[in-house]
Amino acid sequence: MDQIKNLSLLSAMCENVNSAITVTNPATGHVLGYVPSHSRETIENVIAKAEIAQRSWAKTTAKQRADILMSWYQLLMDNQEDLARIMTLEQGKPLAESRGEVAYGASFVQWFAEEAKRAYGETIPTPSSDRRIMTITQPVGVAAAITPWNFPIAMITRKAAPAIAAGCSFIAKPAAQTPLSAYAVTELARQAGLPEGLLNIVTSDDAVMVGELFCSSDKINKISFTGSTNVGRILMRQSAESVKRVSMELGGNAPFIVFDDADIDLAVKGAIASKFRNAGQTCVCANRFYVHDAVYDKFVEKFAAEVATLTVGNGIDNGVNVGPLIDANAKNKVQRLVEEAVAQGATISIGGEDLDGQFFTPTVLTHVQHSMSIVQEEIFGPIAPVIRFHDDASLIEMANDTIYGLASYFYSKDINRIFAVAEALDYGMVGVNEGVISTEVAPFGGVKQSGIGREGARQGLDEYLNTKYICLGGM
Ligand code: ADP
Repeated sequence: MDQIKNLSLLSAMCENVNSAITVTNPATGHVLGYVPSHSRETIENVIAKAEIAQRSWAKTTAKQRADILMSWYQLLMDNQEDLARIMTLEQGKPLAESRGEVAYGASFVQWFAEEAKRAYGETIPTPSSDRRIMTITQPVGVAAAITPWNFPIAMITRKAAPAIAAGCSFIAKPAAQTPLSAYAVTELARQAGLPEGLLNIVTSDDAVMVGELFCSSDKINKISFTGSTNVGRILMRQSAESVKRVSMELGGNAPFIVFDDADIDLAVKGAIASKFRNAGQTCVCANRFYVHDAVYDKFVEKFAAEVATLTVGNGIDNGVNVGPLIDANAKNKVQRLVEEAVAQGATISIGGEDLDGQFFTPTVLTHVQHSMSIVQEEIFGPIAPVIRFHDDASLIEMANDTIYGLASYFYSKDINRIFAVAEALDYGMVGVNEGVISTEVAPFGGVKQSGIGREGARQGLDEYLNTKYICLGGM
C-alpha cells in the first residue's frame, strides 16, 4: 500500500480490531489492511441518515446534481493511477486492466450526470376534453446495492451514479474481498462536494445479515444486485415481503461462436479479450466456444498460439496479462471443472497447469461436448472449452440451451446470417465480430435467469426513477 500517493483514498482503513474485515492481496496472500465490519445497528443508522439526506437531495435540480457528479468524475480520473493500484492489490487484475476499469467506472458518473438532465416526462393526448394528462419522473428514494469483487469500482459507479443523478441516496455493500476500492471512490465523491448521507459504503463479514436488512427495510425502496444467480434469487425472495423494486445482474454462460465464414484472426483476438481478461472472472466472459467444423482446426491452432503468449503473474508487475484467481475456492472450482472435462473425454490443447498460490494457467480444451459440466456451468476462470459444430440450427439450439441469457458473441461476415443469429440468440447482449462490448452508452443486462433491468445507457436511469401520472380534471 506504500505505492499509493493520495492517502485520503485509504482513510476508511482501520487498525486490526476484532470486528474488522481483513483485506488480502490474492497474488501474494499478504494482508493489505483492515476495514470495519459494521454491526446491524450501525447499518440501520446509515439507512436512517440516507433517508433524511435523500429528501433534500430530491429537491435539487438535475443540473446541480450534475455539477457535483462531474467533479466526482474528474477526481476519479485525476486519481486513476492510485485507484488502479488499490484495485490490483486487492483484486489481482493486471494494472492495465485496473486503469481501464477506473476509466470505465468513471464513465458512468459522467454519463449519468449528463443523462439526468433528460429525465423527461410526457404530456399525453387527452381522451376527454375536460382533462389534461401528464407524467413526471421522480427518484425512487433510498437505493441499496450489493456488489461483487470482480469489478470493484465499476459495479458501484454503474449503480451509484444513476441513483444519485436521479435524486436518490445510495448505500452499497461491496464484496468483502474488495472494500478498499469502494471506500476510495466514495471518499472522492465526498471531496467532490456530495452532501453527507447520499453515498454510503457499509462493510460486513456477514453478507446474509446485510442482505436481509436491506431487503426488509421499509426505508429502502430499491435493491440493485450484481453477483451470482443463486444469491439473486435469495434477494428477490427477501424483497418480495416489502415489494421492492429490484435490478439483478446475475450469472452468465456466454457462447462464443465462430462460423465458417468468420475472419479467424479477428475471432482469435476477440476470444483472447473476452475469455482471459480479469483471468476469466467476469459474468460476460466467453464461457464456451462453438467453432464450425470447417475452421475448427485453424481456429484452435491460432487461438492456442496466442494463449501461449499470455504471461501469468502478479498484476502489479509489468507485462502480466493474467492475474490470480480471487481466492482458493475459485481456484478449486476451476481445477474441478478441468479434471471433470478431461475425465469426460476433453483434451488439453494448452495450459491445464496448476501453479502455486491462486494462479492457474490459461487453458484451451478441445474434444469438448456440449453436455460436459465445463460447458453447462459458469467457469469464472481462464479456461476455454472448444466445441465443434456442423450446422446453424443445432448450433443455435446449443447456444440457447442454458438458464442464463447475459452476453453472447459470434463471428461471421455474412449480413443475412448476422441478423438471423443476432435475433435468434436468447441473450440480453450480442457482440458481433467483437469480444468486448461493455460501454456506458449501451444497456447492459440479461434475460432469463441472468437478471432483470439494465445498467448504463438511457435505460439505466429509469431503474432509479418512478413515473408519476398527473391528471388535471375539471378544465
Ligand atoms: P461471487 O460468487 O461472485 O462472490 P456472490 O453472489 O456470492 O458472487 O457475491 C456477490 C455479492 O453478494 C458479495 O457482495 C457477497 O458478499 C454478497 N452475498 C453473498 N451471499 C449473500 C446473501 N445470502 N445475501 C446477501 N448478499 C450476499
